[in-house]
Amino acid sequence: MKAMVLHTIGQPLTLETRAAPRPGPDEILVRVEACAVCRTDLHVVDGDLTNPRLPIIPGHEIVGIVEALGAGVTEPAVDMRVGIPWLGHTCGHCAYCASGAENLCDTPVFTGYTRDGGFATHVVADAAFAFPLTVDDPVAAAPLMCAGLIGWRSLSIAGEGRRIGLYGFGAAAHILAQVCRWQGRDVYAFTRAGDTAAQDLALKLGARWAGGSEEAPPEQLDAAIIFAPVGALVPLALRAVRKGGRVVCGGIHMSDIPQFPYSLLWEERQIASVANLTRQNAIDFLTIAPQAGVKTTTTVYPLERANDALADLRAGRFQGAAVLVP
Ligand SMILES: [Zn+2]
Ligand SMILES: [Zn+2]
Repeated sequence: MKAMVLHTIGQPLTLETRAAPRPGPDEILVRVEACAVCRTDLHVVDGDLTNPRLPIIPGHEIVGIVEALGAGVTEPAVDMRVGIPWLGHTCGHCAYCASGAENLCDTPVFTGYTRDGGFATHVVADAAFAFPLTVDDPVAAAPLMCAGLIGWRSLSIAGEGRRIGLYGFGAAAHILAQVCRWQGRDVYAFTRAGDTAAQDLALKLGARWAGGSEEAPPEQLDAAIIFAPVGALVPLALRAVRKGGRVVCGGIHMSDIPQFPYSLLWEERQIASVANLTRQNAIDFLTIAPQAGVKTTTTVYPLERANDALADLRAGRFQGAAVLVP
């Protein structure tokens, strides 16, 4: 198999040829058709997330075809198309797993961080953490596996409000905006000041308003979800939500949140974070995405150009999501 491998934090990935891995008990071997590039991959490469397993093959928005089954696996079957997300394995017995919060498992395994991921031609995954997909376009489906899933979990934590602000209009927001519209909510899209391309995409996807993140929306928001890894957005979003409104931080890493006056939090405004996902989130979202007619905007890179895809994501050089295709 071929893979793009991270050996040292902060260094480019290197292309390597290895023997294809074998699936162990309860695992499957998947031939990767497409793997989207997530901002979390940048955080792994840059060392914002501590203690990755090194060397590691990044990538956790994987779509591929099951090629072989390890001992004891009956589902999914060989030749089935599956999606593999960030949550690679949970212990099943800690207090969090036992209470339906496996996203907070004490000893989790994460795809592309503590086990090899999808920047490769093949990947081995835990069969219980791979999801059958009925889609026929693997490139279009790949961004659903993290941008979509984490967006969905963020929206459930944001609550039932009608007016939803999305800060950072990249891969996650462009999917979530479509889900919000389908649910009858109003979307307010916040981008870097002057990023008219992202604002145009937001309006095209049905946003009621799009503007710079320093701007005040035309109406007070019921909730805001922050996808950009910028702590300074937290007080801005608090300023934009109504009394009792909620600000949800959807990213795994964020720069420091600046000091802000208590009056921004007063009146029962709330700040929450979203960590990982549960398998139920994936089952729910992968059912809803086709019903909502979610269409992803993608930029395709050959696997060997993973470093270019990461650099372009860092610089905000494309709309929607980058997808690696072996
Ligand atoms: Zn991700
Ligand atoms: Zn656990």
